[in-house]
Amino acid sequence: MVRDSQPSADDTARARTTGDDLTSATAASPVTVRCKGVTHEYGDDSSGFRSASSRTVTALRDVSFAVRAGEVVGLVGPSGSGKSTALHVVGGLLEPSAGTVEVLGTDLTGISAAQRTKLRRDHVGFVFQQFHLLPSLSARDNVALPLVERGVSRRERRRRAAESLERVGLGDRLTHRPGELSGGEQQRVAIARALVTDPEIVLADEPTGELDTETGRRVLDLLVDVADDRTVLIATHDERAVAVTDRVLRLLDGEVTTDAR
Ligand code: ADP
Ligand code: MG
Repeated sequence: MVRDSQPSADDTARARTTGDDLTSATAASPVTVRCKGVTHEYGDDSSGFRSASSRTVTALRDVSFAVRAGEVVGLVGPSGSGKSTALHVVGGLLEPSAGTVEVLGTDLTGISAAQRTKLRRDHVGFVFQQFHLLPSLSARDNVALPLVERGVSRRERRRRAAESLERVGLGDRLTHRPGELSGGEQQRVAIARALVTDPEIVLADEPTGELDTETGRRVLDLLVDVADDRTVLIATHDERAVAVTDRVLRLLDGEVTTDAR
């Protein structure tokens, strides 16, 4: 269905309650991530058993949102507001205590841990605050790593890693090790690694946290540039993300307080 008009106030009100998302720009694009009533408590071992001394922290409280292919969304909020927990839940690294998480049409709460791992490997790329590059490997070998576990041939890995590095402007740094690169360049290597499997979904957790202002801004611009028809979720306390993303979900104390474009 292609919409040629802005969503009505009724649509918007319905979207708020159903978790549907109705941007005019992407209303025809498929929903890639849908959280419905997601609550996450740390310290809850899911067995129902709690000792008298155990304390739980509610990191997410009844969070609902849906994101479409092609959307670049900032998950913005202060430290402790639940941003990382939200990304981990969407990436299938954490099981929510309540609610459902659908990724590319699959309910993560209804599949095995092995199936979640496969879904993540095949369809999700991660970018972290601290880059997580292996210091002894060249930029190209770091970027090629996700292809090793997928059984891609060495020759093809090298080709695709070089292509991915070119995409982030590091075609001339293929053989450099992380220690020979600036912070901004290391984060670009990490972005190239996240993209090398051509994932539909990219999850970035505080990608500018280790970078100076100007470098951080360029990394945000790069994430937006490489988005194409991917879904990109950027968790950050960096208000500059608001200017470059299509949409901002604000989190406070584990709750979504605003969802704005
Ligand atoms: P953010 O990424 O916005 O800083 P987090 O998702 O890391 O927020 O944390 C949300 C809340 O959950 C905070 O109160 C934090 O202290 C708590 N929390 C995060 N990780 C854990 C954990 N592994 N065990 C217990 N509490 C945690
Ligand atoms: Mg965090």
